[in-house]
Amino acid sequence: MSAPVTLAKYSIGVGDRFGRQAKAQLEACRLALAAGVEVIPVWNKSYREHSIIGSEPASTRRAADEAVAALGWNLAYHVDADHIHLGTVEAFLEPCDFFTLDVAETIGRPAPPERVEAFVDRHPELVGSVAVSGLDQPLETTADSLAAIARKYLLAVEEAGRIYRRIAEAKGAGNFIAEVSMDETDSPQTPVELLVILAAVADEGIPIQTIAPKFTGRFNKGVDYVGDVAGFECEFAADVAVLGHAVRTYGLPANLKLSVHSGSDKFSLYAPIRRALRRFDAGVHLKTAGTTWLEELIGLAEAGAEGLALAKEVYAGAWAEREALSAPYAAVIDIDPSALPDPAAVQDWGAEEFIGALRHDPKSKKFNPHFRQLLHIGYKVASRMGARYLDMLAACETAVARNVTANLFERHIRPLFLGNAD
Ligand SMILES: [Zn+2]
Repeated sequence: MSAPVTLAKYSIGVGDRFGRQAKAQLEACRLALAAGVEVIPVWNKSYREHSIIGSEPASTRRAADEAVAALGWNLAYHVDADHIHLGTVEAFLEPCDFFTLDVAETIGRPAPPERVEAFVDRHPELVGSVAVSGLDQPLETTADSLAAIARKYLLAVEEAGRIYRRIAEAKGAGNFIAEVSMDETDSPQTPVELLVILAAVADEGIPIQTIAPKFTGRFNKGVDYVGDVAGFECEFAADVAVLGHAVRTYGLPANLKLSVHSGSDKFSLYAPIRRALRRFDAGVHLKTAGTTWLEELIGLAEAGAEGLALAKEVYAGAWAEREALSAPYAAVIDIDPSALPDPAAVQDWGAEEFIGALRHDPKSKKFNPHFRQLLHIGYKVASRMGARYLDMLAACETAVARNVTANLFERHIRPLFLGNAD
C-alpha cells in the first residue's frame, strides 16, 4: 500500500485547452523551484473543455507525463478532473488523480426538515458564539440560522459524497485528491457557511484536501478581480482561519486548503492572498482559467506573418459568433460589444497592436479586456481549424512557449508565491 496522494502546500492548476503547452507550463514551476519555492503543477481540464475541443481526459495525462519526463521533474504533479459530477466522471477515473467535485447545481435545493434537524442536533458546537483561532470576533449563529444554512447546503454535500464514493470505489480511497467546488453559483459563501459546509463534509466522510468557495466580487475569466479588494482580503483570511478550525474540530485532512478558481489574472488579489497565507502559514491552490491558450495566440502573433494572420482569423471568427460563444459563460465574463474592435480594423493591425490589446498588462493603454475576454472564450474557433491551428502552434513553438512560461511565472507564481520586488 503506497502513501496516500497528498496535495502539497502550494499548487497551481494549469489549463491547456489544446494539450500542447505542458512543457512550457512545467517550465514555470521549474523556475519557481529555482527561485526557492515548490509549486506543484496540476493539469486541469473540464468535461466542457474536452467536449468543445474533442479531446479525451487520457490526453491530458499523456501530455503531463511527457512534459514531466522531458524536463526531468521529480516532484509531484497531478491531473485534475475539473468540475465533474456523477454524469461526467467515468472517463476521468483512470487518467486523473485529482477530482473537483462540482455540486454547485445542488446548492439551494432545500434539504428535508428531518435531515436539517438531525444535523443541528449533531452539531451543538455550531450554535451560538463559535470562537475560531485567528479571527478577532467569534462567528455568531443561532439554531435557526444554522438550520437555514444546513437546509441550503446539505444536499449539495450529500451529492459530493456520492461522487466521492464512486471515485473511491474505482480508484481506492487515498489514491486521489478530492476537492469540493461551490464557485459556479450565484451567491458567495460566508465564512460561517463555509464552516457549516466543512462540518457536513466531515460528516459525509469526504477527506477533502481543497475546497473552492465562491468569494465575494467578480472572478471573470482572463481579467482582473472586480470588487472590494480590502473586503476580499478579510474574507479570504477568515476562510483560511475557518479551514484550520475545521481541520482541528472535525478531523479533516491537515493539508486542507482553499482553491481559488478562475484564479489567473487576479493581479490585485495576489498580495492580499500572500499576506493571509503568511499570517496563517497556510497553503493555496490557484486554479488558472485556461488563459494559456491566449498566450498561444500572443506567441503566434509575435512569431510573425502567418501566425499573426491566423490569430486575426480566430478573432474574426469569434467576433462573428460573439453572442453564441458568450452565452454559456455569461456569469464569468463582462464583454461590452461596443468596445470590441471591428475585425476589418484588426486586419490592418501589426503584431504589436494585436499583442498590446490581448496581453494582460493593466498598465498598458493598448490593453482591451473585451477583446481579451472574447478571445478567451473563442477557443472553439481555433478548435474547428483543427490541424491548421495545431501545425501553426508547432511552427511557432519557441515564441508560444516563451509567452506561456513567462505568463505563468512572472504574472502569477512570482507575485503570489514569491512576492514582488516592490
Ligand atoms: Zn471553478
